[in-house]
Amino acid sequence: MDSSDKIKRLVRSEIQALTAYHVPDPGDLIKLDAMENPWPWPDSLRAQWCAALESVSLNRYPDPGARELQAAMRRAMDVPEAAAIILGNGSDELIQMIIQTLAAPGRVVMAPEPTFVMYRQLALVAGMKFAGVPLREDYSLDATVMLEAIAARQPDVIFLAYPNNPTGNLFDAGVIRQILGEAPGLVVVDEAYAPFTDASFMAELPQHGNLLVLRTVSKMGLAGLRLGMLAGAPDWLEQIDKTRLPYNLGTLNQATGRFALQHKSVFDMQAGLIRQDRTDLFAGLQALSQLTVYPSEANFILFRVPPGQAPAIHAGLRDAGILIKILDGSAPALADCLRVTVGTAGENNAFLKALSGLL
Ligand code: PMP
Repeated sequence: MDSSDKIKRLVRSEIQALTAYHVPDPGDLIKLDAMENPWPWPDSLRAQWCAALESVSLNRYPDPGARELQAAMRRAMDVPEAAAIILGNGSDELIQMIIQTLAAPGRVVMAPEPTFVMYRQLALVAGMKFAGVPLREDYSLDATVMLEAIAARQPDVIFLAYPNNPTGNLFDAGVIRQILGEAPGLVVVDEAYAPFTDASFMAELPQHGNLLVLRTVSKMGLAGLRLGMLAGAPDWLEQIDKTRLPYNLGTLNQATGRFALQHKSVFDMQAGLIRQDRTDLFAGLQALSQLTVYPSEANFILFRVPPGQAPAIHAGLRDAGILIKILDGSAPALADCLRVTVGTAGENNAFLKALSGLL
């Protein structure tokens, strides 16, 4: 069966040119590649969770508006009263919904680069243009370059990951406010890594009609759940909600989300540990003189190895039982770069030991 002619004819050329989001199989490796929280739930919580799930009715459709979970998320994420929220199957789904709401030929999605790859991918899938604006060499946001690009390209939506993935830094809040003032369309501040920083634009939502704030529970310890939240002005969210599939959050997800947020202090405590361990991991990396290490406000650290060595170091770590993310080859600004997620202290030390043996 050869479908290649039909595929060439029927699949849009933008889609043919893309690569699907690749996630390597971790096998038994120590998994420090995907910004997951390394800590499992305490046993007592696990037992209570299973008990809570027993009463769930799977013969019925879920609550389409996930009202109880919405209320719990609003509280957990300190959403201002004036803002509305929408929940998504991960924040990925919410990024897709924002883009679908605005998509039309010639419309522009903008983001500084390097950044989270799905902004670009989902823009192209929706038939929009993507305008990547280069960050400075130290990955900070260049206000002049950004404001010029906004004036020239008139983006319908700008995505700012705050802190940024894969670089780990926070963009200057003053520059973000300038962007909010000058952008002709929406500005989405994606706070996926909020558990690991004190910075946030959430409280500023009432001041900016074109600001949307994205959150997720993935990094705080619930990556398997698939639950994200978009907060913003009610009139914008009313439009974006029209692109949501009915019942996008299953009953088990809703029940688990509600249960987990009742125990948010456990996740806050784990995030605190991860922040402490980030300090130690950063110091451990900085002690390796061959590396350039980038400061991080997230639960991962970007570092640059000597020219040409990234693939061998990545493979050497894998052979030593440790999986991290290689960014070398994905963009010129990330040449020779690798990204490690903050794991448990034991995992971080195993990583540092293996890495120092490879340099
Ligand atoms: N935004 C950013 C900046 C991310 O790095 C990620 C995940 N890597 C996401 C959004 C998506 O997270 P999720 O779909 O798990 O909520």
